[in-house]
Order: sequence, then C-alpha cells, then structure tokens
Amino acid sequence: MTQPGAESWVDVPTGGTVVNPGSTERNLTGSWRTKRPVIDFDACSHCMICWVMCPDSCFATAKGTLVSVDLDHCKGCGICASECPRKCIEMVAEGRD
Ligand code: SF4
Ligand code: SF4
Repeated sequence: MTQPGAESWVDVPTGGTVVNPGSTERNLTGSWRTKRPVIDFDACSHCMICWVMCPDSCFATAKGTLVSVDLDHCKGCGICASECPRKCIEMVAEGRD
C-alpha cells in the first residue's frame, strides 16, 4: 500500500499537529479502516453526493461521472454509504471480497 515518498499514519506528529501544510495527501490513513466502501456503479446515478460528503475527499470524478474511491485515504467512516440516495455503496469488512 505504501507509495514511494508516502508517510504512514503512524508518522503523524503527536497530537495531530500539522507541521507541513498540504501533507495530508502524503499520509496514507486508509490503514485505519475496518470497512471499505464498495460501489455498485451500475446503480450509481452519478449525483456526486458522496463526493460532496466524504470528509477525506476520496472520490474521483471524470467528465461528470464518479469513477473511483481512493482507498489509500478512505478511513471507512461510512458517511458516503449513509448519504447515497441510491444505496449503491456497501461498507464491506476488510479482508473480504
Ligand atoms: S451518492 Fe451514490 S448514486 Fe450518488 S454518485 Fe455517489 S455512489 Fe453514485
Ligand atoms: S467511507 Fe468515509 S472516508 Fe471512505 S469514501 Fe466513504 S465517506 Fe469517504
């Protein structure tokens, strides 16, 4: 999961102090997650509510459509699944397909 130049969440300074502005992207906080969002793209209406609601800006879009979730940074909070009007995001326990 670790990318060259990336930092693990364990490298975050004590107290969560932000000592390097813009460093959030380099801290791969996805390893906190116990559940991950799995999207049924066939049911997705591309309304982008999940994109708006995700506190970690994990959803990627292209040409007005939802295309992927950034699991390097998704913490598995489940907000996207709760807010999706189509209920096409399922939170699946890590370690399962
Ligand atoms: S909230 Fe649901 S329907 Fe809307 S873009 Fe996200 S996954 Fe698709
Ligand atoms: S589970 Fe939480 S952090 Fe992960 S994509 Fe959904 S809203 Fe974002």
